Amino acid sequence: MFFFFKLPLVTLLLFLTSFAHSFTLTWNNPPRFPSGNITIKVNTTNCSVGGVSESYTEIQTLLKEAVDNYWNQIYSSSLNFKVEGTITVDNSDTALLNAADNFIAVGCHDMGNSSSSYAAASLSCSQLNGVCINAKGYMYINENANSPWANAERGIKVAILAHEIGHTIGIGHSEKSYALMYYATNNSDIQTYLSEDDADAATFLYPDDPALLGLGGDCGAVASTQSPHPHKKTFLYTLSPLIGLLLGALFILCTRRARSFFRRSAS
Ligand SMILES: [Zn+2]
Repeated sequence: MFFFFKLPLVTLLLFLTSFAHSFTLTWNNPPRFPSGNITIKVNTTNCSVGGVSESYTEIQTLLKEAVDNYWNQIYSSSLNFKVEGTITVDNSDTALLNAADNFIAVGCHDMGNSSSSYAAASLSCSQLNGVCINAKGYMYINENANSPWANAERGIKVAILAHEIGHTIGIGHSEKSYALMYYATNNSDIQTYLSEDDADAATFLYPDDPALLGLGGDCGAVASTQSPHPHKKTFLYTLSPLIGLLLGALFILCTRRARSFFRRSAS
């Protein structure tokens, strides 16, 4: 009896597969590091203690927690941050940007007396033929005496560094309020874990399998740098339902071996 159910099901499956769309990539090289193996180097120059009292080794420890608790956890992404090595430059946004050279430079910067920002970060990238040839990730903690960093809890500091690391590898802000990359940085809004939305963005830019580039998760999480290609239907595409039907009919009518297989499995 199961045979009578199974055969139409196979026919239906063969028919439906002819409707399946093939994916095309509409994204053309958004800024990103050439691979997921990314090194984070901390500036040895002391920050202004009024805003950032941590030594550079303490900042390294916080950064290690940020990558281990967040970005290095994503099984579908090739991201594998290492916090090792140092740089020695002035503490300023431009000095950190200039120091970065296919790694992420982390230090301090005075973001102004009225600033309520904990930190800021970005990714600069020289592109040659659409490919990043010199990825400069840089991040600075606000060392102003009125910086909210000074009185933040340790877990909040780790989450802030994780959020900023997201910016240094090319991830923008998420509209999802539960995401680490949500734009608001009020204490109550900072996430203590990596959300699926963040993982989607990381997997989109740094997929575990390079063949999956751009196919990982919700594309809406990452801003497009290019308008989508118009969807063109080829002649073969138009004919594909008919081809699917013919293949299905061929399979059912001509394959005696398959028929006997179904009879055996039905008994
Ligand atoms: Zn941000």
